[in-house]
Amino acid sequence: MQRCVRPREPRSRPEESSDEAQLPRWWSRGALNSDEVEVGQDRSHRLGTHHHRVRCNYCFLKCLCHDHMFAYRERLVDGTFERVRIDLDVETVSQRAAMVLDNQRPEVLHVQGTETDILHYLVDHPYQTQSDMQVVVEPRTNEDLASVMQNPQVSRMVVRGLTSLECALAVGTEHTQIDVEVVLDSEIVAWIGANSQHVGPWIAADRLFGRLSNFETISAVKENGVGPDELRLLAEIGVRLVNVPTCLGGAKVEEGAHYVLSRDLLDEQGNLSVTPYVQRYIEGEYYKKSLRCKDCSLHDRCRGMHIGFLRTHGFSVLQPVGSLSEQIAC
Ligand code: SF4
Repeated sequence: MQRCVRPREPRSRPEESSDEAQLPRWWSRGALNSDEVEVGQDRSHRLGTHHHRVRCNYCFLKCLCHDHMFAYRERLVDGTFERVRIDLDVETVSQRAAMVLDNQRPEVLHVQGTETDILHYLVDHPYQTQSDMQVVVEPRTNEDLASVMQNPQVSRMVVRGLTSLECALAVGTEHTQIDVEVVLDSEIVAWIGANSQHVGPWIAADRLFGRLSNFETISAVKENGVGPDELRLLAEIGVRLVNVPTCLGGAKVEEGAHYVLSRDLLDEQGNLSVTPYVQRYIEGEYYKKSLRCKDCSLHDRCRGMHIGFLRTHGFSVLQPVGSLSEQIAC
């Protein structure tokens, strides 16, 4: 007897499933975390030490290890990390690690600490010969922001929290040459929206930047409270957004800090320490694009958006844009 086989209807797929096809295999089991990486290391081989094309294709850490850690290792050896971040409250673990760090030739030097420690460090730091290097400072207190803002070496100051933002803006654009970059949260977004008299001169001078933070978990992204609507509002006001793609923040966005070397990343031999590197990857390098990004004029030079934001707000927040000149005209 001949069996009647009903032709199958093509399965309709949710819009975002095509985006998820871009994600690595371990994605389907949930977010990558440090524990999972430790287990993965035990089962396979040590991260960043092998480069076996066939075997590595079956490893769920391939993206983290091949696509990113090798790029970190190359920069470490060549001294070509784009950014060096010095947290003055963190000790370098050995002289060798300090030497590796000091031998970098960064485009951006990011110094964190108290105002006093930052100013002291800038008097005699190991990157003095690096011409055209941008110096970014991130003071941990508000006690003497004005002194930091008047240091001629500094080009940008990063502030966290409303009090620090108010102190920084109160210095006035006419008394400093540096830009102010505020780490965004829902309170700060609301304050900026309601205080045009304070932010107006800084926006008019094109010197107020808002940085979107990356978070490992969806709950942390939600708690921070800065989503697509808040970003569009800030872009409309004229705040320059950092760590946000053009499709969400307009033509004057800056990309997030990638390829950052810091004291905590180095072990005693001056090699990359795996656990801090994994954390660095998850929080600072784990970016994705939507499949629809292939139609965007910026596809080749845009890294997309941090995975935590996309998991929370969906890949559909990324919408292809036309040419940059069209963006500027808008
Ligand atoms: S490539 Fe994607 S993420 Fe980047 S601007 Fe275009 S649409 Fe947005």
